[in-house]
Amino acid sequence: MSEEFEALVGPVPGMHTAELRGRLRTSESRNVTYLGEDFPVFWESARGATIVDVDGNRYLDLTAAFGVANVGHANPQVAAAIADQAARLMHGMGDVHPTASRAQLLERLSAVLPTGLTKAFLATTGSEAVEAAMKTAILATGKSAFAAFRGAYHGLSFGTLAIGGIEKFRAPFADAIRRDALLLDFPGAGNDDADAALLRAERALRAREDLAALIVEPIQARGGCILPPIGYLRGLRALCDELGILMIVDEIYTGFGRTGAWFACLHEEVTPDIICIGKAMGGGFPISAAVAKPAIMDAWPLTAGEALHTSTYLGNPMGCAAALATMSELERMALPARALALGEMMGERLAAMQSHEGVIDARGRGAMWGLELRDGDLAERTVKRALRGGVIALQAGPTGNVISVTPPLTITDAQLHRALDILEASLL
Ligand code: PMP
Repeated sequence: MSEEFEALVGPVPGMHTAELRGRLRTSESRNVTYLGEDFPVFWESARGATIVDVDGNRYLDLTAAFGVANVGHANPQVAAAIADQAARLMHGMGDVHPTASRAQLLERLSAVLPTGLTKAFLATTGSEAVEAAMKTAILATGKSAFAAFRGAYHGLSFGTLAIGGIEKFRAPFADAIRRDALLLDFPGAGNDDADAALLRAERALRAREDLAALIVEPIQARGGCILPPIGYLRGLRALCDELGILMIVDEIYTGFGRTGAWFACLHEEVTPDIICIGKAMGGGFPISAAVAKPAIMDAWPLTAGEALHTSTYLGNPMGCAAALATMSELERMALPARALALGEMMGERLAAMQSHEGVIDARGRGAMWGLELRDGDLAERTVKRALRGGVIALQAGPTGNVISVTPPLTITDAQLHRALDILEASLL
């Protein structure tokens, strides 16, 4: 494939986006898509690290569309695997009649996950994977409360809202959500010391006897790319062991090579009791999983024909085929190592942007970076200017004040530098 860059053929957004904007405004819940005059654009196609909108404008992608397109948008091998599977068997039968690809996928996952995580629950979305992990922890411990972190994002379903650390998502529904989660402060590397933060966590955890598990993102993604100090995750593992609390690590964003390892907890040699994965797992096809140590997963009763927890699309054959092809592509192109190399370049370029007025911090690991700006307004203006310049970028952080930079891991050096040139010019 030839190396493609941004190519704007008309105004951004163009007239086809404007027309579709009007139609979507009347037919979609007004809560879902921000539809302004200057943002967003409607996407038509994508490949590798570029996206084309309905007006024919081409953009470089610095988001991998929420960290999903790690193996590149419309990866040809993944697309072929899905097409082939779709032509043969599009849908299996959840918890009743499975497929060979499901067994194959689960075995293959065990080989790349931290050692000992070998029994899985498949699902479709990230929140479902987290809820499966929560139910598993409840059965394994006989307890039902959770510890989680302020700023954390685990999904927006009722179960995950109860452990979510971003209050605005919970507030309108507060009466319908369990309130007994223990929310801890998430320490940011550079501002906080691992030992001091662990001591605070220990005090809070010791005060509770009703905790089934602690759930943590190795790097808070939606929360603004917050990296904990080195040693913190490991310290949490030791604390959970000491206090008899299970450790659930949410790698839905950080997984499948994003941070320079297959999974971020491998950097600290931490093995959670349950890991949650999703997003990049299917290369763009929705599939997710909660994977646990067998002794913990076996807290579920043996089914007598009707599963206590399942869903219509559990183990969907196209999802399994997509995930198998995605894993092969990650391996073939050595993308976890590529994420490290990209991280070197991103780190250097983003650190240099700190000389701009309004840029507060640049931080990240592998190909997962955040550029913290003075406030959300500046970040919004920057993202909109970047779009007009031919780059897709995304806001994150508590007030939208962080620009998250998580490109497809297949992005070339030249594409990355070009995209970062445009991002930098958009800061002015
Ligand atoms: N956990 C993390 C760390 C996430 O980033 C997300 C999604 N951004 C979720 C869970 C929820 O996944 P989904 O939106 O697929 O339900």
